[in-house]
Amino acid sequence: MSGISNRQLFLAHVAQTSSAPIGIEMVKAAGIHLWDAEGKKYVDLISGFSVCNIGHSHPKVVKAVQDQAAEYMHLIVYGEFIELPQTAYAKFLTDLLPPSLDCVYFTNSGAEATEGAMKLAKRVTGRTRILACHKAYHGSTQGALSVMGDEYWRNAFRPLLPDVYHYDYNEPDLPTAIDAQTACVIVETVQAESGIIRPSAEWLQTIRKKCDEQGALLILDEIQAGFGRTGSLWAFEQMQVVPDVLLLGKALGGGMPLGAFVAGHSRMQLLTKDPVLGHITTFGGHPVSCAAGKAALEVLLDGHYIETVKAKEQLLLDKLVHPAIVSRRSAGLWMSLQFASDKIAQAVVHQCVRNGLITDWFLFAPDRMRIAPPLIITEAELAEVCQVILRSIDEVTGKA
Ligand code: PLP
Repeated sequence: MSGISNRQLFLAHVAQTSSAPIGIEMVKAAGIHLWDAEGKKYVDLISGFSVCNIGHSHPKVVKAVQDQAAEYMHLIVYGEFIELPQTAYAKFLTDLLPPSLDCVYFTNSGAEATEGAMKLAKRVTGRTRILACHKAYHGSTQGALSVMGDEYWRNAFRPLLPDVYHYDYNEPDLPTAIDAQTACVIVETVQAESGIIRPSAEWLQTIRKKCDEQGALLILDEIQAGFGRTGSLWAFEQMQVVPDVLLLGKALGGGMPLGAFVAGHSRMQLLTKDPVLGHITTFGGHPVSCAAGKAALEVLLDGHYIETVKAKEQLLLDKLVHPAIVSRRSAGLWMSLQFASDKIAQAVVHQCVRNGLITDWFLFAPDRMRIAPPLIITEAELAEVCQVILRSIDEVTGKA
């Protein structure tokens, strides 16, 4: 294919939905670093959007993938054979969750987990009404899109699911709206794509209480917030609230594709009748993904990385101070920096990339830059990263 660059092939043959893809050809990733085709080294400041919490290609995860691939890969659709990687990971996860969350349905993706959870809520309650939040992101399939909190994206794909209502995150209207028609409330434990909003524990507890009173299910989405990102294994631990259904994805697969909705066993059993096969997936819970995910979670826990998150958050808060930063929000090793306009934020992001830091903005907050490095990053590395960010801001705002 002489004369045609890989960039041209990428733009011509790989379907694009981003109007401005980063478009760097990456050839290797290890730990907190990525390398491009010219040999330039980058620090990954977004962990593949909160996937690579233990960094890239950890040797124990690579070995788990290789070992499992050599034993078997796909055998049959979900839930027919006993596949030990899946069973072992489900047991490992449920041992780390409250006793009421003892049954895992593994999916291909976060969006599929959202779909499965909403279907389960309909089966459990016999109701259809779903309450969600403005600026929420739960996935891009049509059910998940129905609960996405932005009319610009929803409207282009209507008709979507009926009987879905949106409310402001962390505001009293949502708990007030929960009634005897409500099948479920779906909220992110920490709202991600609005630029990281941590709700008050009281707000989530009020939702929990109203759901209990009205017989509605509480679905908490920890697809981005889970696996230590906020300083505890599960973000809901910090809110003293236990969901009826927990959504997991991203870091769940340790770099391989995997999602899950987790609920109580007796509720989950409702998907086995009227209709039987209430949720079907071919590749959900793929044995290689489950082996990788379990190995990654072992590395995360054995390395005690979650215990380091709060100190690293404080380091970011101490060091990332600049007159061009209008505001900051953080939840563990997860921060958004707000600039005076989308244009400045995006210029800073591009400058960071030129200076060797992979970062991005947020879907519903284009004026905010994203910082979510692998949790394994050291404090010394993080301090260096902060210097590069501050230099990049200076270069953009003309103070260099
Ligand atoms: N929920 C949240 C909070 C997310 O951030 C995402 C993805 O960004 C999803 C759900 C959907 O996950 P996936 O892209 O795996 O479908």
